[in-house]
Amino acid sequence: MLTEYIDSTERAARIIREGGLVAFPTETVFGIGVDATNGDAVARLFEAKGRPSNNPLIVHLDDGGHWPRAASELPMVAELLLDVFWPGPLTVVLPKLPAISDQVTAGLSTVGVRVPDHSIAREILRSAAVPVAAPSANRSGRPSGTTWQAVAEDLDGRIDAIFTADSTTIGIESTVVDCSGPLPVLLRPGAITLQQLQRVAPETKDFRAGDKRQVVASAEQVNSPGILHPHYQPSAKVRIVEVPPTGVSVGASAVSAFCGLEGGAGIDAFALSRIFGSIEEYAAGFYEFLREVDRQSCEMVFVQAAPGDGIGPALRDRQRRAAGG
Ligand code: AMP
Ligand code: MG
Repeated sequence: MLTEYIDSTERAARIIREGGLVAFPTETVFGIGVDATNGDAVARLFEAKGRPSNNPLIVHLDDGGHWPRAASELPMVAELLLDVFWPGPLTVVLPKLPAISDQVTAGLSTVGVRVPDHSIAREILRSAAVPVAAPSANRSGRPSGTTWQAVAEDLDGRIDAIFTADSTTIGIESTVVDCSGPLPVLLRPGAITLQQLQRVAPETKDFRAGDKRQVVASAEQVNSPGILHPHYQPSAKVRIVEVPPTGVSVGASAVSAFCGLEGGAGIDAFALSRIFGSIEEYAAGFYEFLREVDRQSCEMVFVQAAPGDGIGPALRDRQRRAAGG
């Protein structure tokens, strides 16, 4: 398949309406958009990504008022959350509308829904006028695409079009909250923190904090399926460290990389290193750094653990998974 490189939101919307696959930017990471009501198109998307069919996709809308295009019901707690956090990096899991393809939701009776805070994304979604399922724009298991060039690296020849826009600002995927049961449950950490959610919905629980089967109220094996699959992994081995390593032998550092918030003695010996100026910049640049590690054929990357505040826990979650944990 010949991939078109485009910069027209109209063109992108048209390809999606006609059943094609288009990568476009959001504020979190690039997504591959597909008409969520078109089962054949959704099947092609799973194929293009090499994504396991039991990993559900998030449906994207241009406006919060359009939730009835994806969900059958808007529980009160979801309404409170989306009033505050939409448009933005928050996905709410709601009872599914039958029109959404079962392949999108991996057969679950719930659907993840989000309104991105990105003018190009929203313009494409507005003009497509269909609910758009959009997983991260990368081959399954790889670090998510945060630049159009990274998207091209993984998906050129496998999808219909790539929108050539600036790199994404947040750099890690949305916070996911299950609102389909009696208590909201944080399934995946993101830029919107548990504390922010609890300010609006104090009863919000962390998935990790309890027995998932009991906390997740929808009684299905929700398990935020993404947790089960390998994710965000470069070819290089990833090692999480609390402080920059000093004792790496010269031979090893020549084929190793380091990224983190602090430098220190020994950093210059690495084949590739990047010190980020803030936790936000670290999150925004993390996946692209992992990709650069692979481009430069490093065998190992030392990753300084993200600290606990703000987007830190979300970045730490991605670091853990990049390391295979
Ligand atoms: P990605 O598209 O790669 O950002 O992954 C989307 C993730 O959202 C999935 O891996 C799940 O963790 C989560 N998700 C999407 N839909 C649902 C749902 N209906 N129930 C629970 N988690 C969901
Ligand atoms: Mg992904």
